[in-house]
Amino acid sequence: MFRFRRTVYCDNNATTQVSKKAQKAVAGLLGRCYANPSSPYRMAHEAAGILADARACLAKAVNAPPESIIFTSCATESNNSLRAIAPLLPPDKRAIIHSPLEHPAMLETLFHLERQGFSLIALKPDRQGRIGPEELERAWREDVGLAVCMAANNESGTLYDVKAMTAIAHARGALFFSDMVQALGKIPVDLLDSGVDYASFSAHKIHGPKGVGALYVREGAPFAPFMLGGHQEEGRRAGTEGLHNIAGFAAAAEDVPLLLAGAGDLCRRRDALIAALRKLAPDCVVNSPPAPECQPGTLSVTFPGKANAVLMGQLDYYGISVAAGSACNTGEDTPSHVLTAMGLSPEEARSTLRISLAHDFSDKDLRYVIAIFSDVLSGAGDTVTAVQPSRLTPEMLFAPDVFIIDLRRSLKTDYALKPLPNSRSFPFFSIGKHLDEIPRDKHILVTCEVGYDAPIIAYYLRRKGYRRLSFLTWGLLGWKLVRPELYARFAGGDGHAQGDG
Ligand code: PLP
Repeated sequence: MFRFRRTVYCDNNATTQVSKKAQKAVAGLLGRCYANPSSPYRMAHEAAGILADARACLAKAVNAPPESIIFTSCATESNNSLRAIAPLLPPDKRAIIHSPLEHPAMLETLFHLERQGFSLIALKPDRQGRIGPEELERAWREDVGLAVCMAANNESGTLYDVKAMTAIAHARGALFFSDMVQALGKIPVDLLDSGVDYASFSAHKIHGPKGVGALYVREGAPFAPFMLGGHQEEGRRAGTEGLHNIAGFAAAAEDVPLLLAGAGDLCRRRDALIAALRKLAPDCVVNSPPAPECQPGTLSVTFPGKANAVLMGQLDYYGISVAAGSACNTGEDTPSHVLTAMGLSPEEARSTLRISLAHDFSDKDLRYVIAIFSDVLSGAGDTVTAVQPSRLTPEMLFAPDVFIIDLRRSLKTDYALKPLPNSRSFPFFSIGKHLDEIPRDKHILVTCEVGYDAPIIAYYLRRKGYRRLSFLTWGLLGWKLVRPELYARFAGGDGHAQGDG
């Protein structure tokens, strides 16, 4: 099979391509206006004016008064603001009710608050990640002072009725914080109408630059700054504003109406992809709810029995970038907390892909993605061999024509581990710099910790022209389970010297 390879980026919930307009705004400012907007002299007035215009521009995109917008370094920081806000809650209102499907930027903040003495109450989502206002009412407790729910989920695309939820919280004297990172540019965001007290945004999810976010604080809502220092942002967020990034954010926010206008087309292409996948793999399970309960471009889909890391590697080989619904890029064997909270088993979560499309995804891209999925799901795309852990024998380890790549990230820090015999250790993210150290005349076997990294690198090497490639499924920890004695002897854990050389 031969196909002309295209590059199709389908991971827009991770980040988006920076628009030409945002690029121009960033570059223009970097070269022109470098004065500190807080300085008193004339040169700084231009900077202060640009900052005010940018604030007004973002405020317009989310229908909020400009004074209620605080620029931050990213949405993670905006969510972390809760660490300074929560201590302002009255002593008898120190419970926080929240969606368990929040992004780690929010969830870890909540867990931190729990360690500080706040109690957490997790809401219950359904199988497609829905949490209705009635669930908030059901789980409510007298001591709740703050409710937290995102407006759109980054993994499933599920949307939440934050306006109704805010009304419930307010009726009970509590505050409401919504992470709206995945909502802006995908569905209309109207902060004044929603009534929320706090909301977070990120520029790089709407075709703006990375490294800039925003926090909305409703006029009159309790607030204390999280970042302490200077008096920037009216004393609400210390640190010199990154004016070039803020201008890029504003330029991207200006185009929010254009993104919203394209939502119908995006939805049609997403639905066409779902229909095609269901034909190709009748047992696949779509985890995202249908429109209008889902963001237009997001699709979470489980392919039972197929490891998402392998699918990712295969699709990547053909130029298609998608995400696995799990922490695969951390090298940890942790299935996605979002998918498991929705009721998927860890195995199902490890067989799940997230495909997130943007407005530049064309019908041609759609046809290409469907054609590649057809090959990959039918096995016609298999150009790399998967080695089951039970088949990794000493013979294979010591075969003279086998070159083993050991990708374990903990190899450097965990001294109980030892490199596999006949192997070389390479860094996952920069293996491309070491291709001249990987022989082309040998059979390459790629191994890693838990099975996520190896297929991705194996397919990467395939793209780089390597012919004889295999990867170890389920990683060396899978090998440890089925062949503990071999693992202890050759991969580590028991402190014995490496044998059978
Ligand atoms: N919240 C959600 C829902 C997200 O999807 C993300 C990014 O993936 C963040 C917060 C963090 O955004 P940032 O990268 O600006 O810190």
